[in-house]
Amino acid sequence: MTTRNTVLITGASTGIGAIYADRFARRGHDLVLVARDKVRLEILAARLREETGASVDILTADLTQPGDLAAVEARLREDASIETLINNAGATLSGPFINQSTDAVAGLVALNTTALVRLASAIAPRLAQAGKGAIVNIGSVVGLAPEFGMSVYGATKAFVLFLSQGLSLELTPKGVYVQAVLPAGTRTEIWERASIDVNTLSELMDVNELVDAALVGFDRREGVTIPPLHDAATWEALDTARRGLLSDLRQAHVADRYRVAS
Ligand code: NAP
Repeated sequence: MTTRNTVLITGASTGIGAIYADRFARRGHDLVLVARDKVRLEILAARLREETGASVDILTADLTQPGDLAAVEARLREDASIETLINNAGATLSGPFINQSTDAVAGLVALNTTALVRLASAIAPRLAQAGKGAIVNIGSVVGLAPEFGMSVYGATKAFVLFLSQGLSLELTPKGVYVQAVLPAGTRTEIWERASIDVNTLSELMDVNELVDAALVGFDRREGVTIPPLHDAATWEALDTARRGLLSDLRQAHVADRYRVAS
């Protein structure tokens, strides 16, 4: 890709978002980097300007704060040079649900789902009008697995997958590409931020490997990219089973097993 349009990346100060920033700058894009840590954003922006010649803006924002979020939304609505949104900022919570505070749970939902969908909503009409562009939403394989014991985090990531699949159906015919990326455990700061000892986790993926794989899926225009999934046929089988279930839903009457004996 050689066009010099702009990519806005949330959660770009470190981890997966910072690697996306590096890769898109090297592909010849200009960047808008969003996160809370201004110093880290400035250091990354300076390096990428110097190494790639990209124009890099930073937007300092806490995406759980409505005023900060509104400023990022406005940029996405108004800056016609932005053709790609990488909806990456996210966090997790440790421990069982009953030990998580109600405020912490609400904060996680605000960051992982509310901010993500508001940002998608801010940019999608403009991209659809232009008939081009892309929205990439970072989900997680945890969103497929209630068994992992991360109920709220997983629920936010199930939301990200469903939203991405729905938006893909709505926006692909309008020329806008939507991708859900589902990493598994990847070596970033997300673990220590949630007070989880990274050394207790086995087989974490390198973050460079993860993002490069996600970009292979991006270039192929995949709807759902699951870099750690080795046999793609298992995902297709799950999707086929889901569609089969839909074809067995009948709206007019309940299933026999729920009929009340008269
Ligand atoms: P990370 O290293 O902890 O980075 C998270 C990024 O989000 C940072 O740039 C952070 O920057 C930003 N962020 C956090 N809270 C924010 C807030 N309130 N407002 C604005 N920005 C905020 O995590 P990561 O592993 O790269 O995670 C990136 C995405 O990948 C997340 O959506 C995560 O759920 C997903 N994911 C990660 C893994 C994994 O194992 N690492 C697996 C599956 C999915 P500031 O602190 O500067 O704000």
